[in-house]
Amino acid sequence: MNKLILIEDKSKCTGCNACMQICPAKCIEMKRDAEGFWYPVADKDKCLKCNACVNACPVINCGKVHSGNLHLSNENETGDAKTIRKNETESDEKAGCGNETESDEKAGCGNENESDDKAGCGNGLEQCKVLAYGCRNRDEDVRYKSSSGGVFSAFAKEIIEDGGVVFACVLKGKKAVIEKTCDISGLEAMRGSKYVQCDTQNAYSEIKEILASNRKVLFVGTPCQTAGLYSFLGYREYPNLFTMDFICHGVPSPKLFEDYVDSIESKNKSKVTSFKFRNKDKGWSQTGLQLGTYYELKNGKTVRNYPAFKDRYMNAFLDDVALRPSCYDCRFKSIPKSYADYTVADFWGISKIIPELNDKKGTSLLLVHSKKGEEYLKEIAEALEALPVGFKESVKRNPPLLKSAVRYKRRDRFFEDYEKYGYDYVEKKYMSAFKWGTHKAFSVFGSIWKRFEQFIKFGIVGISNTVICLAVYYLGLLVGIDYRISYTLGFLASVCNAFYWNNKYVFKNKQEKSILKAFAKVFASYGLSFVISIILMNIFVELLHIPSVIAPLLKLVVTIPINFVLNKVWAFKDKKIK
Ligand SMILES: Cc1cc2nc3c(=O)[nH]c(=O)nc-3n(C[C@H](O)[C@H](O)[C@H](O)COP(=O)(O)OP(=O)(O)OC[C@H]3O[C@@H](n4cnc5c(N)ncnc54)[C@H](O)[C@@H]3O)c2cc1C
Ligand code: SF4
Ligand code: SF4
Ligand code: SF4
Repeated sequence: MNKLILIEDKSKCTGCNACMQICPAKCIEMKRDAEGFWYPVADKDKCLKCNACVNACPVINCGKVHSGNLHLSNENETGDAKTIRKNETESDEKAGCGNETESDEKAGCGNENESDDKAGCGNGLEQCKVLAYGCRNRDEDVRYKSSSGGVFSAFAKEIIEDGGVVFACVLKGKKAVIEKTCDISGLEAMRGSKYVQCDTQNAYSEIKEILASNRKVLFVGTPCQTAGLYSFLGYREYPNLFTMDFICHGVPSPKLFEDYVDSIESKNKSKVTSFKFRNKDKGWSQTGLQLGTYYELKNGKTVRNYPAFKDRYMNAFLDDVALRPSCYDCRFKSIPKSYADYTVADFWGISKIIPELNDKKGTSLLLVHSKKGEEYLKEIAEALEALPVGFKESVKRNPPLLKSAVRYKRRDRFFEDYEKYGYDYVEKKYMSAFKWGTHKAFSVFGSIWKRFEQFIKFGIVGISNTVICLAVYYLGLLVGIDYRISYTLGFLASVCNAFYWNNKYVFKNKQEKSILKAFAKVFASYGLSFVISIILMNIFVELLHIPSVIAPLLKLVVTIPINFVLNKVWAFKDKKIK
């Protein structure tokens, strides 16, 4: 058993700081590596070998569930989303925007959208009973200053009015950190997404103390930071603790963000006095082009990067070249959620689901994971316009809920170059709109290729089959053999060719034992298409009087797809089953 935290594989550390905060000997320091991400480094000489750091690590303990994690499935077997109503008095007023019609859709439990990746510690979409809502804060100013619908602010305000404390991310100069506030005015700096890793500092320790005094606490952070809080608290349930995470694309390097701000300052010969990662002055929509950064400089200059890809830092973020290693293999993308009470996100795809809540100024998706979360939601019903939606449908356009970003080779090249040549070099080489656009186009092409690769390869083999079959067929015609016999000879030659290449190249069947069986099946599949071919050719030549040289080409339109399906689902199915 581990006695102290030792980082051997960086993808297994999220930098949540739980180990550092819990260490009784204070012998763990968070140190930045060359990429600019922090990792714990323990002083072995001072270590008490108490194992507290290991027990507090959310990655090592991934899969443990805190005791308050009573998923809604217990209480709400159907998983239907419910209209939010004010709690105690059971007010008859409609909560939200007069939504009389409760959604009939099942919330969750579908699995078409399930990622091929492992979905973290959870059981996958098919198991979930998650309540989902489209939400807008009724305060227009607050919503404008929030990234999407301003849901965070509605909860945070209620917690503070209840005498509680809110912990969330603020940008302090060039550094994103988790801070606390028990003052509504403190929420201003917490609003809005900061697309950089933020430092939890000593938040978990402070939260533990506040919880002991029975005050309410709202903690907002990435899914891994929220998991870190629960592992720090020993997975104990606190009725006064509320947690909110968000659908998380990943977090870029804090050093990269600092260098980016430095470069703005040196180009403008003036300090950046305020910075917004997302500005909504041009509206809010899924293309994201309206978003983009906005900053003010000490010399009075203001800069608005519009459309969003004008900002080189944002290009690096969206192009996935600068994320923390753990974000490419995230263990906290799971449904049902083991940790947070709520998950918030941009409600992408809203215009198809609840267009009545889309005024292009920002709508949040709110997912509720716990009974406690469901109860508290009633407290803020009046602050929100909310409509229940089907869970599965609501997350369809938001793959980062379950899928980690892909770690392409250029991510590692980016950081190698960053370390060797510095910020200006990588900005020019990797972060331009052109580079971002090209990589996006390549990855779209890559995913299309991946999806149709087998069919394209099958088509190529099909063409070679046709060439062989026709060569034998025309040769037969040339020497005066009947077109049916010629075609049969051509067919036999093409089946041998098809078997060889489909086995080796298209379906890559490596099971020696099944080779004969597979050959027999290929023969039978092509036999069926042969019969169809003969019938079609008879119709084309005898009935429609199409020349016998053209007829074999025409019938391919029908036989290639039939052959593909038969080969894929039957002849070469064995390997898939294995
Ligand atoms: C790094 C990052 C990646 C994201 N990826 C996606 C995504 O792929 N899909 C999606 O739909 N939504 C994503 N979001 C969430 C989205 O940007 C909004 O935060 C969400 O829609 C909630 O908006 P809101 O208007 O309700 O609240 P807001 O007022 O925007 O508040 C959001 C809350 O997030 C906190 N926060 C901001 N930045 C950080 C940070 N770096 N670390 C920890 N907490 C932070 C704020 O303090 C605040 O409490 C991401 C957010 C971040 C920070
Ligand atoms: S084992 Fe205990 S003392 Fe040693 S580093 Fe971990 S928490 Fe600190
Ligand atoms: S994930 Fe958190 S607790 Fe685990 S080693 Fe990293 S910083 Fe420490
Ligand atoms: S993608 Fe995963 S590891 Fe990365 S910040 Fe988000 S929750 Fe943490």
